[in-house]
Amino acid sequence: MTTLSSEFDLIARHFTRPAANAVLGVGDDCALVDITNGMDLAVSTDTMVSGTHFFPDVDPENLGHKALAVNLSDMAAMGAMPYWAMLALTVPSVDHEWLAAFAKGFFDLATEFNVSLIGGDTTRGPLALTVTIMGEVPAGAALRRSGAKAGHDVWVSGNIGDAALAVAHRNGKLVLAESDYHEAVMRLYEPTPRVGLGQGLRGIATAAIDISDGLLADLGHICRLSGVGATVDLASIPVSSIGAKHFGSDAGRNAIMAGGDDYELCFTAASNSRESITEMAEGLGIPLTRIGQIKRGKGVSLLGPDGKAVKIDGRGYDHFSAPA
Ligand code: ADP
Ligand code: MG
Repeated sequence: MTTLSSEFDLIARHFTRPAANAVLGVGDDCALVDITNGMDLAVSTDTMVSGTHFFPDVDPENLGHKALAVNLSDMAAMGAMPYWAMLALTVPSVDHEWLAAFAKGFFDLATEFNVSLIGGDTTRGPLALTVTIMGEVPAGAALRRSGAKAGHDVWVSGNIGDAALAVAHRNGKLVLAESDYHEAVMRLYEPTPRVGLGQGLRGIATAAIDISDGLLADLGHICRLSGVGATVDLASIPVSSIGAKHFGSDAGRNAIMAGGDDYELCFTAASNSRESITEMAEGLGIPLTRIGQIKRGKGVSLLGPDGKAVKIDGRGYDHFSAPA
């Protein structure tokens, strides 16, 4: 049974580390942080629920990584520099081996990005975790979803679709070769948040979003908030060698275009920024690919190699939409 003392023991044992960049970290009623003059505080929260956001048999170290990675990705999408995280953890029982592995995945990534865990909450119940992340961005310089204008290019980082292909394989929608599945599932469990890229895009990108719900849905959010439409050229979508094998099938293409969990960035920029974006891609070693254009109107249309519209099933993940 979880007693009060084991709750505090759990926090002390697994989640208390020096908070280098905070005035006060874990242990008091609040954490304290010092905000730099001239910066806006960027804040975001993401919840992950067992069975909805991850398979119940997920490796706890992967889960610790992912819980923080999806939040770092939101910082990336705003061009913010992450500093502080809070972790609200609900676990069915105290399993120290599980918690140690989870904490390892979480803190390994936190250390890589200089993020301090400064507080949280620990409760008993069905496995779920909520991370709140806070960071800074120069006042007025955050990348919003709302700045895309007709004529701007649409770009995407990295390659798209491996995470969704792994999910489609797990759900029996398509079959990946065993070694392909093992590679793709790591993109699902250990996404790489594009934090440096997001900061580099300040002053260049006119709108940005991270791809969590699916490329088409997330670009759709940019369009809606910017009051524009977009066309995307199917042939220009960057995919891995695994994605290339499945792009020809309906199930594969649907997963790649409408599935989520890539945590790459999708952004728009004026056409006179092409050269600086290409240079940035080389400097950071992250492929950046131009996939389409912002147009007047609304909605995202997908164009095949012949320039004709292609229809894709699935509109991206929406927790409250009726089942398709
Ligand atoms: P309170 O009762 O004031 O909410 P808690 O007993 O929930 O305090 O937490 C004690 C301290 O431990 C607080 O500083 C809180 O932020 C921190 N904490 C609790 N759970 C976690 C966790 N999972 N990860 C990091 N810090 C945590
Ligand atoms: Mg509490």
